[in-house]
Parts: sequence; C-alpha cells; structure tokens
Amino acid sequence: MAAIEMKNIVKQYGDGFPAVNDVSIDVADGEFLILVGPSGCGKSTLLRMIVGLEDITSGDMIIGGKKVNDLAPRDRNLSMVFQNYALYPHLTVYENIAFPLRLAGASDSEVDKKVREASSTLELDEHLERKPGNLSGGQRQRVAMGRAIVRNAEAFLFDEPLSNLDAKLRGQMRTEIARLQKRLGITTVYVTHDQTEAMTLGDRVAVLKRGVLQQLATPRELYENPCNLFVAGFIGSPPMNFLPAKVDGDSVELPFGTVKIPSEKAQRAQGKGLLIAGIRPEHFEDASVVDEDKVSEEATFHAKVDVVEWLGNEAYAYIPFEAPPEVEKQLQQLERDLDGESLRTQLVVSLDGASRITEGDDATIWVDARKIHLFDPSTGENLT
Ligand code: ATP
Repeated sequence: MAAIEMKNIVKQYGDGFPAVNDVSIDVADGEFLILVGPSGCGKSTLLRMIVGLEDITSGDMIIGGKKVNDLAPRDRNLSMVFQNYALYPHLTVYENIAFPLRLAGASDSEVDKKVREASSTLELDEHLERKPGNLSGGQRQRVAMGRAIVRNAEAFLFDEPLSNLDAKLRGQMRTEIARLQKRLGITTVYVTHDQTEAMTLGDRVAVLKRGVLQQLATPRELYENPCNLFVAGFIGSPPMNFLPAKVDGDSVELPFGTVKIPSEKAQRAQGKGLLIAGIRPEHFEDASVVDEDKVSEEATFHAKVDVVEWLGNEAYAYIPFEAPPEVEKQLQQLERDLDGESLRTQLVVSLDGASRITEGDDATIWVDARKIHLFDPSTGENLT
C-alpha cells in the first residue's frame, strides 16, 4: 500500500480552461479519498492521471514516495475498478480473479492460494465456478475487487463504480465497499458525482469545480463549515437554502424576518452590505415542536406554506420567495455551477414528522440561528 501525492497537477486539453487546474492533494497510506463534483469538473481526468491513462501537463504525481509521471500504467501497480467492472464473460469467477496472476507468470499453486484467500475475504467461495453473466451486480463488483486484491496493488481506484446500479443495490454496494476498504486498509481514491457516496464513504472528500479544488476536508467539516457557496450548495440533500441577508449588530435581516446570530459570527460579516445567508432545510423547524427554551422571538418567523411533503419521520415544507435583483445574478450562476438546482424561488424547510403544519398555513417557523452561514456574494467565500 502507498500514499499518493498530487502536487500542482494541471491537465490542459487544447486551449480552453484546464480540465484540472493546479490541484494538490495528499492521500495518506490506507486513506479513503473521494473526488466529487458536477459533470465536467475534472474528477475522472485526475483519476486517470493517477493511474497513468492520461499524461500530466504539469505538476508531479508521487506514489509510494516515487515520482510516476512517466511510468506506464502497468508499472504503477495500481488497480482500477471501472463502472462496468471489465470482467471477462467467458471466464469463471476463479479465472477472472486469477487473471493478473497468470499474466505475471505465477505458478498454479500460488494462483490457487491467492485466489482462495481473496475469495474468502470477499465471500465469493461459493461462486468460483460461475461466469460473470450469472452473478448479481454486487457479486461482480466483488470479483473486480478480488482481482485487485490478488495483485497486492498499492491502491484501489474507483471511477463511479455504482452509477449503473439501481438505488437499492447502490446502497448495499456502498456499505460493502466501505466495509472491505476498512478491512483491507488499502489506499483508495474514488470518483463520484453522488454526494451521498462522497459523504458516507470518504475519510476525506475533495470537492472540485471546473478543474479547481474547492475544499478538501472530512465529510463532517464539509457539511458544517463549507468554505464557499459552491461547496455549501453541493453538499447536503435537499440542498442548503440561499437567501439575501443584511447584518446589523447581532441581527440578520432575512426575507421572512430578523433573527439574532452569535456575535462572533455577526462580527465577521459586519459592514459587508448585502450578503447571501445559507441555511440548511434541517436547521428550520415547526416552532410548535421545538423545546420552549430554544424558541425565542428572535429566532422565529411567520410564513405562508405552499406545499408540504410528508415522509413519516419528517416533512418538507415549501415556502415561495423571490430573490431580489441584487443577489439574483450570483444565485443564477450558482445554479449553473451546481447543474440546475433551483435556489431562487422557494425556501425548503425540513419539519419533524410530528409537525401538523399543512398546505396554506401561515406557519411559525423556528430557525437554528447558530447554524446560519453568511457568504460574500462577490467572492462566494463563507465569512462565518
Ligand atoms: P463526468 O462526471 O461527466 O465524467 P468529470 O468531472 O469526470 O465529468 P472529466 O471527464 O474529467 O470530468 O472532464 C473534465 C473536462 O475535460 C471536461 O470539460 C471535458 O469535456 C474535458 N475533457 C475530458 N477528456 C477530454 C479529452 N480527451 N479531450 C478534450 N477534452 C476532454
């Protein structure tokens, strides 16, 4: 196993903006790192440069302490698991797993020992004589991983391995990959555009936008302290709400009313004019189901609820509003960056399942003011 160091990596195709623009990431030995971002952000290109399937325009790729920029893929000893698993349909599971060992000229007894070890780890013993066509998607995935294990690869690289599966299987496979990676402790870089995969699998997550690394942090840090509007809007489901905001003393004026925020937050946003407040749907609540000591005048507002979607344990309430022209442009750009999430027309509020708020109500909504983020509209930077 090995650490992977990406140092100021650039990939330029033609004369457009670089597909990967000065990205530096250190992946520790045994770490599970996620590369995430919307389509075209450069995540696959970066992965392909780690593996050696793509030339590096500038920067250094260092694997296990050794610069590999000019090493062919087969000399990097990495194992890539593709979306379609790249299994040989005419070979049995046993022979699929054995394939890289046979290629390397291993003896029959060595092949047998390693294949049996791997298939036991992956719980594939019962399926060794079957062909890939007779396996479930999850079993095929494990065969692909088995092939990587027998090679003693320095790292696993995954490129959207679950995107062809239905939602239920995707969930199961996600858990399985997480379990195996922990058990094997093998350095892993995993590309996805799915933020649920990013948040549940990664020790750390690198968020990319148009080739530029936005933030590299643990899932919790990304959720709690997104560095800018883009990361804030990308991480979280349903996405964070963005509202125009003005700070005056310790108060923030929002379209629905004014709430008090912790003074250290307010100080950092003082004198900045019109800002964009970011509030996650789950940081609102029906005021009538919140503990009384939390509900104060400064943290509640009244709003007319348009639609309520009740899901049992929670409900989503939709409250229409219009972004004023001063922030409309920034939010439009953000929508494009995030691949079209509509951020400007309605507030989404997550309510406890016990809430009795229904469509058409003039509801009293509480907001957890400690969790409000304030962004500079011109730079997108999180000021709080
Ligand atoms: P997706 O999730 O859609 O696969 P991605 O984040 O993996 O997207 P990349 O495939 O890395 O993005 O592409 C990054 C940028 O580089 C895109 O603008 C893409 O059009 C461009 N690009 C990728 N491969 C090539 C190529 N071979 N020649 C020219 N441009 C390319």
